Amino acid sequence: MSDGLQGHHARKRFGQNFLHDRHWIERIAKAINAVPGDDIVEIGPGQAALTRELIAAAGHVRAVEIDRDLAAWLKETFPETLTLIEADALTLDWRSISPAGNLRVVGNLPYNISSPLLFKLLEAADFVRDQHFMLQKEVVDRMVAAHGSKTYGRLSVMLQWRYRMQKLFDVPPGAFNPPPKVMSSVVRMIPKAKDEVPAVDFALFSSVVANAFSQRRKTIRNALSVMMSAEEIAACGIDPGARAEALPLEAFVSLAQRAQALGRTPVMPGTQK
Ligand code: SAM
Repeated sequence: MSDGLQGHHARKRFGQNFLHDRHWIERIAKAINAVPGDDIVEIGPGQAALTRELIAAAGHVRAVEIDRDLAAWLKETFPETLTLIEADALTLDWRSISPAGNLRVVGNLPYNISSPLLFKLLEAADFVRDQHFMLQKEVVDRMVAAHGSKTYGRLSVMLQWRYRMQKLFDVPPGAFNPPPKVMSSVVRMIPKAKDEVPAVDFALFSSVVANAFSQRRKTIRNALSVMMSAEEIAACGIDPGARAEALPLEAFVSLAQRAQALGRTPVMPGTQK
């Protein structure tokens, strides 16, 4: 069995940076800690650096790969132990591929689509046991940021609403071929139990958070003026003069709950007249 697809040139448009350093491959596999019977879906198996480890530990893996050449090679190389879903992970119906509800999603993600992919996976969070991803360090820092920090933003609030997240470790560019320009980090995401997820209308919550962070220098009063008045914001116990980055997750939940009680509809930034 070859170590990878001979002659395959990394495709920039698919965010291809292949892991080649054994130390880091093993460290990531150890963090995932797959065991026989786990229902693992890997996003972007590429040349199977992680896939091989996952198959060795779990016995069988499913994987979603967009690159046809890699998909063909993967099918040929792992005819029994890998079920390949040749698809775009961004448009895949994640709920339909995870009926058992105990999915372990993993991936060294294509960095060019990491934020939309994380938002997409929110749709299937109630079917997921855990997610382990390698992403740009800067993105992981934003995901786990606490309110009051400079990196706290829309990604932090939306993901922290649904998942417990833990940054595990950084990975240097030299672990990949070709090396990316930036540092990477591995993050663990565990969906919160249903009763721990603040109950809120998802579309309204998304729109409150998106508007609140649409212009970081704006006060909440100005940023949310398309949806709520200063008095309505104050009625949630929130200073209308505060900026979004100062507000904890619960504040955004309260604002969305209030907007719902007031019968407001979601307005995404940039779509209002
Ligand atoms: N897992 C491999 C590794 O660690 O070496 C490859 C990682 S590489 C950063 C990203 C992989 O995701 C590539 O194999 C790429 O073809 C694939 N990919 C890119 N966009 C994708 C998409 N929208 N859906 C599924 N796979 C995608």
